[in-house]
Amino acid sequence: MDIAAQVSGHLRKLAGVNLCDDCLAEDLDLSRRQQAFRVTSALGTTGEFTRERGTCDKCALEKLVTGVKPHEPACLNTLSVTRLFTEHAKIEAELRARNVIRSANSPVGDYAETLFCTAFGWQMQGASVKGYDALDSENVRYQIKARKLNSEKTSRQL
Ligand SMILES: [Zn+2]
Repeated sequence: MDIAAQVSGHLRKLAGVNLCDDCLAEDLDLSRRQQAFRVTSALGTTGEFTRERGTCDKCALEKLVTGVKPHEPACLNTLSVTRLFTEHAKIEAELRARNVIRSANSPVGDYAETLFCTAFGWQMQGASVKGYDALDSENVRYQIKARKLNSEKTSRQL
């Protein structure tokens, strides 16, 4: 394995840990600190790693340190509605797998109400209104039910 692969692999394994070139050279048993320096200088220019002045997590000295860049949380307000539902489905699946939640329906009902009210020009009623979800222009009440078809279940009954 070449030195670049050794250094980047080591930093990925220690994700979140920032190391100075001396400690990297020591960890990887590199013969010269310059070898680590050449690699970390290059890594610092990539999107995956940071290289900046900071505290080395091993020797605790204030130096130039290199580490894996922390993942930025997704900027939700830049995502499309489709993408938000996709991410939401993934989160729900994970929460179900951990037995945190049991239903897979949660935002679906609200979304169905929005769709029906937009399509038919109904007036959506707030959550405080019991028994119906929308009113049309003649004050006819509608209750809107929806269910997400889940690949884990085969029933199509509402
Ligand atoms: Zn160090």
